[in-house]
Amino acid sequence: MITLGTTSGMALGRTAPNGVPRAASDVRDAFGRPVRSLRISVTDKCNLRCGYCMPEEDYVWLGRQEILSFEEIAVLAGAFSDLGVDRLRITGGEPLLRRELEVLVGSLAADPRVRDLALTTNGVLLPRLAGRLREAGLGRVTVSLDTLRPERFLALTRRDAHAEVLRGIGAARDAGFERLKLNTVVIRGFNDDELGDLLEFGRRAGAEVRFIEYMDVGGATRWALDRVVSRAEILRVLEERYGAAVALPNEGSAPADRFVLPDGLTFGIVSSTTAPFCGTCDRARLTTDGMFFLCLYARDGLDLKRLLRGGAGAGEIRDAIAGAWRARTDRGAEDRLALGAPGRPGERGVLYAIEDLRRDVHREMHTRGG
Ligand code: SAM
Ligand code: SF4
Ligand code: SF4
Repeated sequence: MITLGTTSGMALGRTAPNGVPRAASDVRDAFGRPVRSLRISVTDKCNLRCGYCMPEEDYVWLGRQEILSFEEIAVLAGAFSDLGVDRLRITGGEPLLRRELEVLVGSLAADPRVRDLALTTNGVLLPRLAGRLREAGLGRVTVSLDTLRPERFLALTRRDAHAEVLRGIGAARDAGFERLKLNTVVIRGFNDDELGDLLEFGRRAGAEVRFIEYMDVGGATRWALDRVVSRAEILRVLEERYGAAVALPNEGSAPADRFVLPDGLTFGIVSSTTAPFCGTCDRARLTTDGMFFLCLYARDGLDLKRLLRGGAGAGEIRDAIAGAWRARTDRGAEDRLALGAPGRPGERGVLYAIEDLRRDVHREMHTRGG
């Protein structure tokens, strides 16, 4: 197995009483939001073609030389940690397609400033990789599961891999991750009749389900307002089956609102489309070719790879990130909401046409990392 050398070229002198190094500074954006979590996309490739994310068969891919090495990712992640990031989520594309991902996991997990190291995956390759990733230090896993019906899965993803995903969820549970979550994008006319069944599946699998409103992100070129099932509607459907859902206290800046049902079962709703949570958003995004985005909806990003490969030192990279974050005024989902919400149709259509995405692949959800 390959191992990485130390990544803390930006090690900090100050140490908190519990022994964990403190962040260098508490960088706030223009609305006072700190930077606390970083989504790291490790590949733009995917082995599925979900209709809400990659509805085309072929895409423009990033060049091989553009892709950051694990060492480069670790250096950039370290720079973010210097500024206060203590939660990392590995994503993609499909992150499990990146070879020897456990090496990166081991390196990120070794940084004492990283409090939470999680992965979002479609689960297809988990049966093979769950144990290795857990051993390498991965803390949590979220698996995307939109349907319990193989024929629907095939229609949605255009790949016959439903059984592997279900096996992958079992493998993640057996590997002993701290918390297992299932992400379900709810789409009217596709899976909105499966909400309770998915909760029951989650109960049996030892996983908490998070229902995600269908978002008009880049890549969702078939998005339409009338296919969005709102948080209010999701709650109404579940309450009809289970009784009143009680809201649980908010976990800081976590995107999901969590609820508990009368029988004790908990679940989450991520209402990015009808009730966005930009006001507390502390998430930064790093693409697999080193672009830093301030928001899921941001049109442009900052090219950290160019800085890194151009020989910039640790301080310079950190200053560039901090400078961009301080100037941040992004509230992408709120801006989209202002265009019209379900039941209040306005101007809101797809974010980008496919031609725009082909011109700038960084606008794709699968490049940017969901
Ligand atoms: N391939 C991995 C997966 O599917 O879990 C990780 C990357 S994927 C882009 C991350 C998350 O974004 C998934 O849970 C996926 O369901 C979600 N997602 C993608 N497109 C979406 C959309 N249009 N609306 C809401 N969620 C979306
Ligand atoms: Fe589906 Fe994730 Fe692949 Fe997008 S990146 S097509 S959501 S599996
Ligand atoms: Fe954060 Fe942008 Fe998402 Fe709002 S839309 S929650 S600012 S990433």
